Amino acid sequence: DDIRAELESHIALVPDFPEPGILFRDLTPVFTRAELFRGMVDAMVEPFAGRYDAFAGIEARGFLLAGAASMRTDAGVLAVRKAGKLPRATLAESYALEYGVARLEVHADELDPGARVLVLDDVLATGGTAAATCSLVERAGWEVAGVAVVLELEALGGRSALKGREVFSLLQA
Ligand code: IMP
Repeated sequence: DDIRAELESHIALVPDFPEPGILFRDLTPVFTRAELFRGMVDAMVEPFAGRYDAFAGIEARGFLLAGAASMRTDAGVLAVRKAGKLPRATLAESYALEYGVARLEVHADELDPGARVLVLDDVLATGGTAAATCSLVERAGWEVAGVAVVLELEALGGRSALKGREVFSLLQA
């Protein structure tokens, strides 16, 4: 519908970034347009209305989404950070990237037990990042309400890495 077409026209396609052969989807032009940014965030969380207590924002673009979603609702932000950034006791989850590994962390005591967490990110590719975030949420004693992304790259199979989870994407490519 309307927001989808508008979004599509403000996602820049960047060939060979960050490596040759990769077509990178750049959402920064959406973030500079307040009305579009707001409409996007509203559309991402709407399917989960009444079913979340906090938004997990994955460093770094997920921070923008989770912060904005928080200001549009009454749920706060759980910061999911890259290794070594959080100062208090953390849980950590490592996962494989195409080349090498990545590690995400959360503060173990950040939310109340049983808190329902909606995971937000810009792009779902292989699903490794979102799956690691879901594991962290559950290991901390919270619940995963679902995963909402702007764009799902369907050929990369992110949904199969998130079996049993509710996954919502605004756009598919
Ligand atoms: P995954 O772990 O393979 O699903 O990759 C998803 C993570 O990499 C997310 O945190 C995305 O922000 C980032 N990512 C992967 N591909 C793209 C892209 O084309 N554009 C923007 N971010 C991407």
